[in-house]
Formats: sequence, C-alpha cells, structure tokens
Amino acid sequence: MSDYDVVIVGGGPAGLAAGLYAARMNLKTVLVDRGALGGQLLNTELIEDYPGIETILGSELATKMGDHARKFGLLVRDFEPVKEIDVEGDQLGPSWPRSRANTKVVRLESGQELRAPALIMAAGGLPRYLDVPGEKAFWGRGVSYCAVCDGAFFKGQELAVVGGGDAAVEEGDFLTRYASKVYILHRRHELRAQPILVDRARANPKIEFILGSAVKEIAGDEKVKAIRYEQGGSARELPVGGVFIFIGFVPNSGLFKVHIDHDEGGYIITGRDMQTSVEGIWAVGDVRAQLTKQIATAVGDGTTAAVAASLYVTSLKDAARA
Ligand SMILES: Cc1cc2nc3c(=O)[nH]c(=O)nc-3n(C[C@H](O)[C@H](O)[C@H](O)COP(=O)(O)OP(=O)(O)OC[C@H]3O[C@@H](n4cnc5c(N)ncnc54)[C@H](O)[C@@H]3O)c2cc1C
Repeated sequence: MSDYDVVIVGGGPAGLAAGLYAARMNLKTVLVDRGALGGQLLNTELIEDYPGIETILGSELATKMGDHARKFGLLVRDFEPVKEIDVEGDQLGPSWPRSRANTKVVRLESGQELRAPALIMAAGGLPRYLDVPGEKAFWGRGVSYCAVCDGAFFKGQELAVVGGGDAAVEEGDFLTRYASKVYILHRRHELRAQPILVDRARANPKIEFILGSAVKEIAGDEKVKAIRYEQGGSARELPVGGVFIFIGFVPNSGLFKVHIDHDEGGYIITGRDMQTSVEGIWAVGDVRAQLTKQIATAVGDGTTAAVAASLYVTSLKDAARA
C-alpha cells in the first residue's frame, strides 16, 4: 500500500518544480527536505539569469517557488532529513506488468516512512570547499563556485580560479569573457585537466597559471580584495576582486539502498524523461549527470520528471482497475 502517488526528495528548484507540476496534475504528492525549502537558492545572493525575472534574491525566489507549489496542494515536510531510500517488492523491468509495481520507501531520520510508486530524486549536491579562512565569510561577496552564474558580476576585474581539473581550466577560460585577467592557482605542478583545455587556456593571453601554490586565505573587507597563498616556501598575495573555486562537486546520490546507475562522479544517469535505471525513480537537477547546473535546467528537469511520473502512476491505476 502506498501513502502517496509521488514522493519527492529535495526541495530546491528541481524538486519544487516537480512538486508544482505533480500536485497540479492532481497526484497526491509529498516533498521532503532536510532543511528549509529553496536548496542552493538560499545560498545565492542575486540571480539575474532566470528567464523573465531580471533580478531577484535567491531567498525571494525560494519563497515564491515554495508558495507556488503549495498553492496547488503540494504537501511539504521540511526540516526532515531522509536517511535512506529503498524499493520494496521486485525491481520492475520494462517488460513486467505494470500492476506489479514496486513501492519506493523513503525512510526519514525521525523513523517515519513515506511510500509511493513514484519517486523523484532532487537532492542536489554541494561544491567541495577549500576550507581556508575567508571562504565562508566571503561566499556571495566575491567567493563563487559557479562561473556561468556569477562571472558577469566581475566585468573588468582580476580574478583567481582555484583548481587544476577540467572545471577549473574551462571555467577560468570562460571567465575571461568578463575579467581583465584570470589567475589559475593549483596546488600541484601539473594540471589534471584534459590537454586540449589546457592548450586553449595557455593560448589565452588573459590567463596566467600559478602552479605549486597552496591557497591559505581569502582576504577583504566588504568584498574579496586578495587571495593569499604559499609557493615554494614563500607567502604571497595577489590582489583580486573575486575567487572562483572549482575543486569538485559532490552529488547527494548516496541515499539509495538499491543500485542506481551513476557515473564515476556519483551523478545519477537518466534517460530523456529523467527516469533512472530503476523504473519509477526519476532524478532531476544537480544530482543528475548533465552538462550544466542551473536553476532553469533544474526546473526543466523537475517538470519533465513530474509529467513522466504522472503517466506512470496513471498507467498503474488503469492497470489496477482493469
Ligand atoms: C552560490 C551559488 C550561486 C548560484 N547562482 C546561480 C545563478 O545565479 N543562476 C543559476 O541558474 N544557478 C545558480 N546556481 C546553481 C543553482 O542554484 C543550482 O543549479 C540549483 O539550485 C539546483 O537545484 P536542485 O533542486 O537540483 O538542487 P539544490 O538546490 O541543491 O536542492 C537540493 C535540496 O535537497 C535537499 N537534500 C539533500 N539531501 C537531503 C536529505 N538527505 N534529506 C532531505 N533533503 C535533502 C537539500 O536540503 C536541498 O534543499 C548557484 C549555485 C550556488 C551554490
């Protein structure tokens, strides 16, 4: 027996879009989040790339998205961490009769369980932190983890990028669209990024690599003013207006007790309708393997998954009635 038609794990933009659509399609839908609704929107100061809204505070967009979804009947359980997600009954393959659907069980840390035939995984993820003084204090005031989101705020300024993998080199190159100069600091003497990306960056006159450098501090007053690092035993300081950190991103995909296909980075692999390798489980937003991590793409994923989940639940109900 299921309590709900759809359970959504995660109340960021992806989960809230899925919740809005699912509830509006008259599915009995519950969304659970370990914190307040909004996800990464709550860590974002100003957003100016969400179509139709020229500028909005992240917290304001979070409130609007939450209220909008609730208006259509989405049930919300915020401040309820999910401990694990399980599947009871046989794992369905595409050729199995729909009437034998398994149940997705979401176990909360409080000990309660939420059950539904359809589950939308929208638990996002978090950037890896450098863990140096100033990083937290200047987050949103010069420290960023997203070049596409924040690059345009730094027109004509000198910037530091921290990291040596594909993301650091590619995003550093991207940032030269706005910045007058981009320093890429990496703790090793060799970069991990693909040679083609490194060659392109080396050919870019606005990029300078500072290798073998260990970042020690991000300094400033109201905003970031400098990055302090150690190189060859000497303490150094570089005056910059912003520090972009690309040393990894950890998707929150580890809640499943059953196997779900994922890539080497832990991102969940989906088909074009967002369904995962387990029938009746969809993955959306930052937790999913895809090209970009943006609010607009998260919302699009959530919409697609809700429509797919609705078709799935309807087919189960039809089969049960037949
Ligand atoms: C600082 C910053 C600035 C950004 N700026 C922009 C911007 O300007 N424009 C733009 O388009 N994008 C921006 N982004 C990216 C954008 O915020 C993300 O792509 C988007 O929030 C992803 O949405 P999501 O719903 O997939 O995940 P998230 O927003 O990460 O939401 C996931 C939710 O899942 C919940 N969750 C996780 N684990 C559990 C658990 N065990 N139990 C219960 N709940 C759980 C979390 O609490 C969270 O609320 C920015 C990101 C950051 C970090």
